[in-house]
Amino acid sequence: MADRSMAAVRKRVVVIGGGFAGMNAAIHMAKLPVDVTLVDRRNHHTFQPLLYQVALAVLSPAEIAQPIRSIMRDHRNIEVLMDEATGFDLAGQRVELKTGAQLEYDYLILATGSTHSYFGRDDWAALAPGLKTIEDAVEIRRRVLLAFELAERQMQEHGTHPPLNFVIVGGGPTGVELAGAISDIARLYMAKDFRHINPATAHVLILEGGDHILAAYPPDLQKKAVEQLQDLGVSVRTGARVTDIQPGYVMISDERLLSAVTLWAAGVQASPLGKALGLPVDRRGCVIVDRFLNPQEHPEIFVCGDLAHVEEDGHQVPGVAQPAMQMGTYAATRIGRLISGERGSDGTGLNEPFHYFDKGDMATIGRKAAIANIKWPFKGHLSGLFAWLTWLFVHIFFLIGFRNRIAVFRQWAWTYLTFSDGARLITGSQELTGWDEEYHAAQNATVGTPVNVTTKTS
Ligand SMILES: Cc1cc2nc3c(=O)[nH]c(=O)nc-3n(C[C@H](O)[C@H](O)[C@H](O)COP(=O)(O)OP(=O)(O)OC[C@H]3O[C@@H](n4cnc5c(N)ncnc54)[C@H](O)[C@@H]3O)c2cc1C
Repeated sequence: MADRSMAAVRKRVVVIGGGFAGMNAAIHMAKLPVDVTLVDRRNHHTFQPLLYQVALAVLSPAEIAQPIRSIMRDHRNIEVLMDEATGFDLAGQRVELKTGAQLEYDYLILATGSTHSYFGRDDWAALAPGLKTIEDAVEIRRRVLLAFELAERQMQEHGTHPPLNFVIVGGGPTGVELAGAISDIARLYMAKDFRHINPATAHVLILEGGDHILAAYPPDLQKKAVEQLQDLGVSVRTGARVTDIQPGYVMISDERLLSAVTLWAAGVQASPLGKALGLPVDRRGCVIVDRFLNPQEHPEIFVCGDLAHVEEDGHQVPGVAQPAMQMGTYAATRIGRLISGERGSDGTGLNEPFHYFDKGDMATIGRKAAIANIKWPFKGHLSGLFAWLTWLFVHIFFLIGFRNRIAVFRQWAWTYLTFSDGARLITGSQELTGWDEEYHAAQNATVGTPVNVTTKTS
């Protein structure tokens, strides 16, 4: 713990979560007269928008994650604690940690993000991993690469192999990114690596329960996205609600779709720590906060990022990186003002609420394909190569602060330009759940080879 003997009057700020919101909050308090304790259950900050690049073997884990301790090394008033917050004593202004320790605070910033939601079917998690952490990305990489290896072995031994179907449940940005990237590695990067199978025959299918993929985007960009996915050989089925997931297949009502690898990109819920506050939450478990990011009757607590339910102009601020960073910065600035009683440069001072500066959204679809709904510095809809280049440079830009951003750029550019190996390593178990079952099912399959395709674009 920090030496507080010299600074009995200094306020103690506890930040829970070293994601986009928590890191920004902590960094913006580096020059404030406060002692900050930043708690995360992991030792590293993960740049989640590039996780799918790890999942599909373009980048290595260390290229998109960095130890929180090293990021905070130069900020002497910030200490880092690797532990998990489990509960609160709101009256006593204490956070309870898994190790049994308690942290007292004058101000608390809660930014523990979100997690997957399997809509009550948690048994699907092992069969269809989602993508949220480095561990998830490495597991997805393992499954995808292993499917090709097993197909090669089976082809060599039996002259046949189960269909290389990759089914992605959920047509949001993560589902679309994963689908485009699987298609890319199958068609472009692995084409020359196998002797018995043709990786390009792999079939990637997105199953979306709603009427459109990328629901948050305008219709013209949704349509462009579907077209670009089709160019990559990815099939999109909308209005397709998955009713069951089993080893080797996915059910939509009584229709069975064979699946060598099933991935989950359908549901998100708030980190369970939000509910542990015992204050009002929305249906996804996000803590309902006012325009100062404070939950009801707790001006000393700030909830930021994906965990916060904050509304602006009648709409909920979206759970993406930009608002998370802006909320973290806002909470830190407000704490500074509350301590000093400062009025702020714009004169609105302590009454200045949080405002989300929305610069737009982007989703990448594959190598050289993306869509972008730009709102700043100009308004416009982009798609194709130009949108992809914009996406690439924005993401490299936000890697700033990571020592290895130049290495990432070099690795990325090299892989994209030369179709080189990237990080195609299979680590962990050499078994693929469902592979054998799928193989036997394939012998009798009436559905699934190739996967049925229904596309709705408008
Ligand atoms: C695969 C993927 C791709 C994405 N792509 C984009 C994109 O392209 N553009 C975009 O804008 N957004 C994207 N997002 C969303 C964006 O990453 C999130 O909105 C953002 O990370 C939210 O920041 P946060 O700080 O609220 O939470 P997070 O970044 O999730 O950080 C939460 C932190 O809290 C820690 N934590 C959780 N529980 C506890 C606990 N009990 N105790 C201690 N620590 C805890 C976690 O370890 C983590 O470090 C993507 C998300 C994913 C998963």
